[in-house]
Amino acid sequence: MIKIAIIGAGVAGLTLAHKLKEAGYLKVEIFDKGKAPGGRTSSRRIDQGYLDHGAQFLTIKDLEFQEFLASHLPQELIVRWDVDFALWQNGKFIPKERLRYVPLQSMSALCKQLAVGLSVKTQVKITSLERQWRLLDEQANSYGPFDLVVLTAPPAQSCALLKGHSNLAQEVGKIQMWPCWSLMLTSSEPVVFPFAGIEFEHPVLGWIGLNHTKAQRGKITSFIVQANWNWSKENLESDPQQVTEILYREFLQVMGLGDVNYKKVVHLWRYASPVEVANTPYLLDHANRLALCGDWCVAGKIEGAFVSANELAKKIINS
Ligand SMILES: Cc1cc2nc3c(=O)[nH]c(=O)nc-3n(C[C@H](O)[C@H](O)[C@H](O)COP(=O)(O)OP(=O)(O)OC[C@H]3O[C@@H](n4cnc5c(N)ncnc54)[C@H](O)[C@@H]3O)c2cc1C
Repeated sequence: MIKIAIIGAGVAGLTLAHKLKEAGYLKVEIFDKGKAPGGRTSSRRIDQGYLDHGAQFLTIKDLEFQEFLASHLPQELIVRWDVDFALWQNGKFIPKERLRYVPLQSMSALCKQLAVGLSVKTQVKITSLERQWRLLDEQANSYGPFDLVVLTAPPAQSCALLKGHSNLAQEVGKIQMWPCWSLMLTSSEPVVFPFAGIEFEHPVLGWIGLNHTKAQRGKITSFIVQANWNWSKENLESDPQQVTEILYREFLQVMGLGDVNYKKVVHLWRYASPVEVANTPYLLDHANRLALCGDWCVAGKIEGAFVSANELAKKIINS
């Protein structure tokens, strides 16, 4: 029986595992360094609810993605984020129609549910690969052997694991990712604002979301303030406290809200979104039995991660 290891339990890794399992590959094991599945769709748990500090919402345009979600998630888990959106440009909020979806309770609910029924080992950081294939973790535990290893981690992390094993390392190493600073604000003071999701054309800001307007996020007021790609890159190594102060100041200014002593927590996503995607939906080194997929192959969004993994699954199944 063919044994397959998948590194990464984000949308790409979980999609691939389901597709392979359905095609009869029964020995599929997933490894993730995080506390729970999710990757960049993870949310922060607080006493009063959840803060979606990574992916904000999902689009469901691809028909196969729609079918996949319908068959692998509990009914009604994914709901419309039925609010008004806007684009902030030259100091003005311009209303923008958008159809966006969110899972109930938290973005992390998506992967939590997708992981059900799969073999997922969390808190296992794979540090190296050994032929024929074994995976080694930080504690020098060894997993395997596997007939095929699929890497779904962001390019820099996958490249480090591939080096010395496959020429794909060079190709993957060329893919750059934007970082993103994300500030979470919470307060018990209610806030009324006409828009709940705002994209910015601004020197610092990229996005502000009224997190509490999503279904079942908790009763307190919560905002997610994300810096834009360029600013995040320029400030990649900045002091988190300083980043917090700058993002908070810009937030108050553009929103015109009073300072109600928000609780502030900042997070840096070092590999948030591809600068340019690879020119292929996945990468496969047939001879060495190594493959890669993830959003950075197709488009820097949840649907992009799905499409990449779905295409790789078809290739593996057909070959
Ligand atoms: C701030 C931000 C906002 C975003 N907003 C949106 C949005 O609104 N809508 C949207 O559709 N998309 C959004 N995205 C993008 C979306 O989150 C990603 O496209 C998608 O989640 C990528 O899924 P993936 O499986 O390809 O990769 P990931 O989610 O990155 O999964 C890779 C997994 O690999 C694991 N891993 C890495 N290295 C190792 C290792 N050595 N050993 C074990 N495990 C490892 C990681 O822990 C991670 O769980 C956003 C992303 C960010 C960061």
